[in-house]
Amino acid sequence: MSTQPPLGFSFEFFPPNTDAGREKLGGVRDALAARKPRFFSVTYGAGGSTQARTFDTVKTVRRSGVATAPHLSCVGSDKSSLRDLLHTYREDGVDSLVALRGDLPSGMGGAGELRYANELVEFIRDETGDHFEIAVAAYPEAHPQAASFERDLENFARKAKAGADLAITQYFFTADAYFHFVDRVRAMGVETPIIPGIMPITNYTKLARFSDTCGADIPRWIRKQLEAYGDDSDSIQAFGTEVISKLCRRLLEGGAPGLHFYTLNQSAPVLKVLDNLS
Ligand code: FAD
Repeated sequence: MSTQPPLGFSFEFFPPNTDAGREKLGGVRDALAARKPRFFSVTYGAGGSTQARTFDTVKTVRRSGVATAPHLSCVGSDKSSLRDLLHTYREDGVDSLVALRGDLPSGMGGAGELRYANELVEFIRDETGDHFEIAVAAYPEAHPQAASFERDLENFARKAKAGADLAITQYFFTADAYFHFVDRVRAMGVETPIIPGIMPITNYTKLARFSDTCGADIPRWIRKQLEAYGDDSDSIQAFGTEVISKLCRRLLEGGAPGLHFYTLNQSAPVLKVLDNLS
């Protein structure tokens, strides 16, 4: 059993859209629930595209007894539908949320009534007071659309001051980026706990494509080593487990209050890392 940091471990899932995906997620949930996480979370398609599936998945995964937070994004949505969803969640016993702006796929409608995540956090607090524990996103390597690193820090501080209880970072592979971000945020007087988001390395092509979009830097030495393995997925996974285990250990030793794993609905890569941390 791993030594738990103060805010423990948490695991993120996406809502599956096939029967096979739903069945697989049941096994993944049980394997990860056995590690006694603080919470599970379930992603949400911007503009509400996965609203029903997100809610169904929340109901399925929390049957394990683990508190489960739906993600909620405001882009492309109006206040009235967000209000309805918040009240539905509250009545159903949901008591934590991950509040985001989200990204609308190009060509899919207008921005919506709330432009940024800080406005969504304010809206949730206005509508539901302190009912929900609210997590927001943080970007140790800066959000790709941010005007500058400084502006992104100011944005993060605005979200925290709007009433966020904790933050989860975009994934990164350089521990110093996280420590620097936390130091800068603390220097601004913001004490919100910031939990590193951890992406296991299992498939280089997908990781490289996704990292380009979300602005996560894959250091050259990791990139080069993964490229050298080509199609040898066993070697990629063994190397990925080693790199991510060392990153997690460094983060915990440096005071990270918890770890949030982007599971991509797979348990094995996360379990290997947790075993290495014990
Ligand atoms: P914001 O905090 O609103 O920031 C967005 C951009 O606007 C930043 O560049 C910021 O610097 C800038 N900005 C903020 N306020 C202002 C202002 N007042 N004036 C000018 N610029 C400003 N996406 C999904 O679609 N579904 C999910 O379930 C999902 N889950 C996620 C979970 C985590 C932990 C993380 C880190 C990301 C997740 N995302 C998800 C991705 C996220 O939606 C995108 O990164 C999105 O582009 C930004 O969302 P945000 O909440 O960080 O936005």
